Formats: sequence, C-alpha cells, structure tokens
Amino acid sequence: MRYYQIALRQVHDTYTWASQTSLTPGDRVEVLFRNRTKIGIITAEVEAPDFKTAEVLKVLETNFLAAEYLALATHLSQKHFTSLSKVLTLMVPEAFWLKVEPVKHQIQWALDKDLTVDFLKHPTQKKYFEFLQAQENLVWEDEIPTAFKNTHKTFVKKTFLTEAQKTIKTEHSLNLAPAEESQNFDLTPAQAAVLEKIVSSNKGKLLWGVTGSGKTEVYKQFFKTLQAKNKSAQFLFLLPEIALTPQLITAFHNMFSGQVAVWHSNLTANEKVQVWARVQSGAIKILIGTRSAVLVPMPKLAAIVVDEEHEWTFKNEFNPRFWTHEVVEFLAAKKHIPFVYGSATPKLRSYHLVQTGALDLVELPDRVHKTALPNIEIVDLKQEAKRGNFAPISKKLEQAIASALADKKQVVLFLNKRGFAGSAMCRFCGDAFGCDHCDMSLKLHRSGNRSLLICHVCGAMKNFPKCCPTCKKAEFNFRGWGTQQLEQQLKELFPKTKLFRADKDSITGRYDFENLLRDFKNTPQSILLGTQMIAKGLDFADVALVGIVLADVGLHLPDHHAEERVYQLLEQVSGRAGRRHTQGQILVQTYQDDLPLFTFLRAHDTKGFMQQKYNEHEKLKLPPLSCIAKIIVVDHSKATAFAHCKTLHTNLVATLKEQNLEAKIEATWAPAFFPKLHAKYWFYVFLKSEDEALLANFMQNYDWPKGVKIDVSPVSLI
Ligand SMILES: [Zn+2]
Ligand SMILES: [Zn+2]
Repeated sequence: MRYYQIALRQVHDTYTWASQTSLTPGDRVEVLFRNRTKIGIITAEVEAPDFKTAEVLKVLETNFLAAEYLALATHLSQKHFTSLSKVLTLMVPEAFWLKVEPVKHQIQWALDKDLTVDFLKHPTQKKYFEFLQAQENLVWEDEIPTAFKNTHKTFVKKTFLTEAQKTIKTEHSLNLAPAEESQNFDLTPAQAAVLEKIVSSNKGKLLWGVTGSGKTEVYKQFFKTLQAKNKSAQFLFLLPEIALTPQLITAFHNMFSGQVAVWHSNLTANEKVQVWARVQSGAIKILIGTRSAVLVPMPKLAAIVVDEEHEWTFKNEFNPRFWTHEVVEFLAAKKHIPFVYGSATPKLRSYHLVQTGALDLVELPDRVHKTALPNIEIVDLKQEAKRGNFAPISKKLEQAIASALADKKQVVLFLNKRGFAGSAMCRFCGDAFGCDHCDMSLKLHRSGNRSLLICHVCGAMKNFPKCCPTCKKAEFNFRGWGTQQLEQQLKELFPKTKLFRADKDSITGRYDFENLLRDFKNTPQSILLGTQMIAKGLDFADVALVGIVLADVGLHLPDHHAEERVYQLLEQVSGRAGRRHTQGQILVQTYQDDLPLFTFLRAHDTKGFMQQKYNEHEKLKLPPLSCIAKIIVVDHSKATAFAHCKTLHTNLVATLKEQNLEAKIEATWAPAFFPKLHAKYWFYVFLKSEDEALLANFMQNYDWPKGVKIDVSPVSLI
C-alpha cells in the first residue's frame, strides 16, 4: 500500500489517502471525503500514517498537473502563507474539481456520400439534405438550424449522418479584435539588434524601450525565432490589461494564426475550461493574459514576456499575494527558459536586478517612426488660480485642445479622479460629508438630475442633502474636480466636439470599454477623457495632444513608491501622443511645478529619475534594497485592533531578540494611513530586512496568530 497527500477544493488542509497502485503527484483522482465523492489532486507521496486511511476511489487523469507547477504551488503557498489547495484552485479551473465532464466536446457530422436527394421522401428531409450539401456535407452540431433538429436526429438514426470528428469546442466568444492591420513590419536595425541579444541566452532581460519604440514587434519575432527551433514550444505573454490592447492581440493573431488564446478574469467559467484544456493539449502555442495567466500550467512553456512590467496590477492583492515577476522567475529557473520584462519606465526592482547583474539590459532608445518624443509643457495651476480660473481646464490647455481639433487631430485628457467633485463642505459651519464606514470624504457624483455622495472606497451612497444637516443652510464648497466636471466644462467649451468618457461610472458592461475605444478611434476630431483606465498601452495614430489635468493625484501619499508611480503614469500617458508621424504635445497641469519629478519628465529623462529614486531607496534601505512584509491586523473595534497589533509587535520583537536577529530584522508598527475602511480598523506590523531569505525563514517558523493577513512585498505601506 502507498500513501498520498491530496488537495481538495475549498478544503484548507491536504489529507492522506491510500492506494494499491503507485500514483504520481499531479494525478487527478476521485476520493471519498466526509461521505461525499470529491475530486482532488495528489500533492505528495508520504510515509504510512499511524491512522486508518481510506483508499483512492479512481484515477481520473495521470500527469494532470506537471511537477514544476506543483512545485510552484507549494512555493507560493509557503511564501505567502496560503493553503496549497487555495493556490491549486487558482491554477486549475473550477470545473476540473467538480463531478461533471469539464470539457465540452463538439461533434461534427458527415453525410453519407451515397445518399441522393431522390431517396428522401419528406420535403424537410430534402431541404436538410440540400443544406448539408451547401455545407460540403459536414455540419457542427451547434450549427444545425433549429428547423432541422428533428430531421437531424432521424438522419443519425438512419445512419445518413455519422460522427466525423469530436473535438473541444473552440471559443467563438473570446471577442478577439478583427484582423485589421495585417502587415508585419520588418524589424528596424535597432529592433533586430535587440532581438539578437534577447535570443542569445536564457538569462532574463529587461527591455527598456521608450513608448512607441516597437517592443511588440520584438516580442513577436522573439517567439517566432524560438518556434522555428521547436515547433511544439509554448509562449506566455503577460500584460496588465487586455481590453486596452486589441491591436496587440490582433498583431499576434496575424502572425500566429489559430495558435493564440487570451486569458483574463472576465472569461466565463466555460471559456476558461476551453482555453485551459487547449493549452494543456498543446493546441494553443501563445497564451496572452493578465496576471492570472501566469498560473495557467503550460506543458511546453519556452519563453515568457511581461509587457508594461512596471504596472502594479502585476501584484495579486488577494491570497496568495504574489508578484507576477516572482512566478515568472521561478518558472524560468525551473524550466531553464528565457524571459523578458518590457517597459518604458521599469520597476525600481528590475532596475535593481540590472545593477546586481541578475538581469541583462537591452534598450530601444528611439521611436520606430522616428517621431520625436512629445514635447512636454508644465502648466502651473497656482498661477491659473491667481487669474481666477478654478475650472479643470487652464487657458493654455483650452487653446491647445482648440488647435489640435482645428488640425483635425484627436485629444486625450487624463484625470485620475472620477465623479463630479471631491469633498463637499458647508460654507457656514464647515461640516464635511464623510463616509460612515471609512475615514474618507464622500465624493460628489452627478447622475442625470440627481446629485449623489459616493464613497470611493466602500461604495456607500447617499443623496446630496438639500441643506446642511447641522446648520440647515444650503451653500457648499467643493474641493477638487472629477471626470464628470471635466466633461461638463468640455461640453461648454467645445459644444460641437464628440466626447468619450472612460471611468468606472461610464464603463460597466463587459465590453463597454472596448466598444468605447473603437468608437473613439473611428471618430475624427474627438476627445477621450478618463481615469487611469486609459493610461496603459493605448495606441491611436491621430492623437496629437495629451492633457494631464491634475498631475498631483497620489503625490501627497506618504509612500515610498508614490513618486515612482506618478512618474510612470505620467510618462505612460504622455506616450499616447504623436506615436506615428507628428510630434505630439503634452500639457501637464500641477500645483507643484517645482518638483524634480517634472524636470525629469520634461526632459524624458527616465533614467535620471530612476537613478535619483534608486539612490534615495539605497540610502534609506527601502525596497528593492530590502524586503518588507506587512502584517495586517483588522477588527471592527479600534481598541481590539490596536491591542492585537501591539501584542503582535511586542512578541515579534521578543522572538527576534531570542534568536539574535534584532540587528538583521527590524519590526515596527503603525496604524494604516486611512485607519478606518469598510467599517473596520486597520493596523500594520512591518518586518524589514536586507536579507530576504533570512526574513522568509524567520517568518516561516513564526507561530502567527489566527486572523492576521500577511503581505510579503506589499504594493504600498500605507
Ligand atoms: Zn452647516
Ligand atoms: Zn466608505
């Protein structure tokens, strides 16, 4: 008898089962658990336990999950303090854990060649026969017109039709962009040189290329080159957002027709099963997806690309709280395959890995179309206010928009705040409207004729009161603007211009955003305005002007990544202008025009900015020059949360002292920057060390109290 640990869906721990035959970790099996048949995955073989165990009922599929993905799941579960089952359920679609046939096969029927129309008596049978002939005597089951459903059954019964093939249904429903720009450009000498460096070794590369430098073309050729050497090779292409990049997906389709699938969290459960199964069978060679795609097992994985690698969406904000990068590096090391991180504004961590020699740097410093980088101008909003203009659009921006539209060009305006205005306050008694559940002011939204107050954290909503609840007067001050107010001002200034607004309020349906982008693309002399939704990867040939309506959003936050993020965002947004034939123009409006950040931005000196940030982080030993873990303590009672946080901190300090680690691992605590959110109080304990392995080891062996959440390498400390 042999014994195995088996993971089940929604069961926290793995349990032991016995088997007469030898099984392998990664096999998919059926077992009896608490008197119910369940499907599980074998995670390890173990010694005979000293308790009685039931036997595995049935082996459903051997080698269901490859060894390196099982190793990855184990690694992630340990590093991020999550159960193995939880990680495995992210790797394997739900249907494979349930007692149903997960893969729906589609049957194609073929007509008997000797059958003639004269042989058939019934008119419907004759019609169906003609229909089948028009289909070259073959029909997919789901393409049989309803009117012929019964006749079809008769034909099958009489063996006029026989099964021609049975295959996994391909997804018509993936909403892939139509193939439009079908030409594949030849690589420029600069792109060819970069490609040569990338394929020269299996070492990880940072591809640092300015916006519009043609990184996508390099990625495609990278895969093509590897595919020429190995026909069955599979490739993973990760990007922060799928909806924004229909052109990119089309480009891959044109080069790798029929071998491309897309993976993102908006896929339906059935679509996931289809794509997943086709990746396993090897039919799909290129999987394009957001961060969740990195966990889709790819048996023949041969290379990985992470585009726009600086994006914070590459961090999983739920358990397991992994960074896509760490999974990529784990898989690359296990499988000895190359990977590329691409960006115009790399993550500080990637910059660091180049400094330490862990990554090779390859650069594309020029734009493909030889268009100069856009001209960036800073508009000082303090001066604008002195002139009495408190509206979102400065005089200068207004003129620039007018002249771009007059040139028959398009305009993109970026404002990272939705709604109509920021906080509201009574003019007389100063009462402000705050959320009942969060330490947040409610934001004013306009919906038709209604004015609403909405919390941007928890979504709580109330009607805007007719008068102040405290002093009953009815005059209010509003701070800040949102996209709705920007839209209103644009309507007043440019009444004839078509406006497209993209934010969480205007985009609610699954394909709303793609439709809106398509409409914008097809509407000359129009304006697209939106929140950070529109910051990533958009590529419109006709956009001549990008206005950043308020660059200050996010800068005030006391977080060591705040400036880095704002810089990346601004540089990305400004990359949207003048990508093809004319030099674009960028106007950046800000109240803090004297910040060094803007000097670097104006000069397109991303390297200068990164080096300055890097020096700062090095001096303060901040990540990536150290590793930080954030331990989150939450409770409905402020006193309880505070007490738990203090106790945890005291115990950690004592344990570090016991183990003589207090010089190497630092423990601190703090309330969250917004202590009350979602009606709960948030406190943090931070562990920081320059030795990542030492910190990980200490954390593995610490007996964590129940209920705390652990975030290793958090996106932010606030
Ligand atoms: Zn009042
Ligand atoms: Zn709230």
